[in-house]
Order: sequence, then structure tokens, then C-alpha cells
Amino acid sequence: MASNERRLDNEHKMSYSANISSISRLRLETDGDGVRTLVCLNGCPLKCKMCPNKDLLEKGSPFWYTPESLLESLKIDDVYYRASYGGITFGGGEPALESEFIASFSRMCPKEWTVYIETSLNVDQDHIDVLAHVIDHWYIDIKDINDKIYHKYTGHSNSQVLSNLQRLIDRGLASKITVRIPHIPGYNTPEDVKKSEDFIRSLGLEDIDIFHYQEQHDSDPPLMGVPVFYENYPWWIRVLRTVTAILAVIGSGLICFTLISSTVGAIITASLVSIIVLFIVILLWDDIGGFIRGRSVNKVIDKLEDDEWNKKV
Ligand code: SF4
Repeated sequence: MASNERRLDNEHKMSYSANISSISRLRLETDGDGVRTLVCLNGCPLKCKMCPNKDLLEKGSPFWYTPESLLESLKIDDVYYRASYGGITFGGGEPALESEFIASFSRMCPKEWTVYIETSLNVDQDHIDVLAHVIDHWYIDIKDINDKIYHKYTGHSNSQVLSNLQRLIDRGLASKITVRIPHIPGYNTPEDVKKSEDFIRSLGLEDIDIFHYQEQHDSDPPLMGVPVFYENYPWWIRVLRTVTAILAVIGSGLICFTLISSTVGAIITASLVSIIVLFIVILLWDDIGGFIRGRSVNKVIDKLEDDEWNKKV
């Protein structure tokens, strides 16, 4: 549920600008409940060895938003958030560095939207205190509780992380926390991960997600929904994929035309066409998946809207 606390202070509407590296719409099951938009804020204090955003963190993004302009750009998905109990997830980079921006945004967005954050917690406690009032759920990438491992991987100590985590627990926010513990190839072992898990459980936290960094740090998360086809890919990949798909279709037509005159040719043709179709499906898999998921979401929302309408009539 959305925090009521963050709605109370509507007078606090100062404008801050934040450097935003990407906005991914209509995401399901990857960043929290319902249909969500992932807003990635640029900037991070850590230097993780396997960071997928190194270039972006160094160069910065050309896109700057105020809380007001971000809200305006996200309103397009208002009906999706309301129908699915979804909302906005702030990721990064390290979004907690922009605590005032997030707090300001959270206070002005509709109360039906939930606001989540994906953070390392390795920021000054002042940021945590600001965010504690406005965040509906925290995804905390703890990395490893062994400070030597943490330091080797990030270039920083984890003492601030552990103190901020305890701070959130002391504020009674344990039920709003999911702790993510990664296997980091070459840095921690399954035994280290188990030790981190045991420590987190000893703090009274139950919602723990253990995963493997190689899978989770794919810089191109899957697309979700029709309106954002190809949204996360650079233009040249989009062009390459489209041209390849067109060439595959033309190629299969030519092969059919050449071989169809004999029975053996027809069998060969059928096999080749199957392979080519399979190739096209694999090539466009994200987009087909996105299309299907997008249609499912639309169907659910259409039904909800119909139900609401029928109730009124
Ligand atoms: S916390 Fe995330 S954004 Fe920051 S350096 Fe590590 S992987 Fe990169």
C-alpha cells in the first residue's frame, strides 16, 4: 500500500533537477508490484567491478527532469498504475543520492501510485531519513556483508550500508524491505552468500532474494508492452534487427521459389523455412513477449474499466 505519510506534506514542493539516464515503461514482475515504470537516476558513489553502467556514470545523461516534468511524462500510464496497484520504481545508478528529488516527486504524484526504490544504501544517513517518509518499498542490494569482499568489489566499506539498514529497521520499516544478496562471480562464494543471508535474517528481515549477478546486471532489461517497442535499444540495433528480419523473409521467399518444383526440394524448403521462422522468432523474442504482455495488461485494464463502468450504469 502507498504510504500516507508522504501525502501529508503537500506544501513541500521545491523543485530539484535530477539527471535521468532512462525511463522504462510498462514493466511487469521485475521491479515490484503491478505495472511499473523504472526511472534510472544517474550518479553512484560505488565503483562495482561488474557495473553495467560505467560509461553512463562517467559521461552523465543529457536528460534532466524536475519532479514536475517527470510527473507529467509519467501520467500517460496513470490508468495502468491504478488498475494494477503499480507505480514508479527509482533505480540507478544510486537513486538514494537524489532523495530530495524523489521525496518531492512522491509528494506530488497521485496517492494510488506506489513509489519503490532499488538502492545499495551506501549513502549518507540524511538521504535515508528523507526517503523513509516517502518510499513504499525498498529493494536493497546488500552485495555481501563481509566488508573485505564488499570493499574489493565496490571500492568502499559497507559500514554505512549496515548502519542505514539498521536505521530503517529501527523505524519499523522491516516489512517494506526486500534484501537482495548476489552471488558475485570471483568475489564471493556460496558460503559467503549463506553468511550474508544468516546475518540479514538475524536482523529480523525475512524477504530475501538471492540471485546471480550475471543474470541480473543485464543492461538491457526486457521490454514490456506495445507502446515501447525497442525502447531500450540503440537505434543501430533496431535498424539491424529490422533489416535482418526483412532479409530473412525475402530469403525464404526466394528459396521457396527456387526449390518448390520437386518433392525433395519441397522438403528442403519446408525445413529451411522452419529454421528461418525460428530465427525470426528468436530475433524478435523480446518484442513478441512485450507485445503479448502488453496485450494481457490492456485486457485486464479494459475489463477493470468495463466493470467500473457497469457499476456506474
Ligand atoms: S551500485 Fe550499481 S550503478 Fe553503482 S557502481 Fe555498483 S553496479 Fe554500478
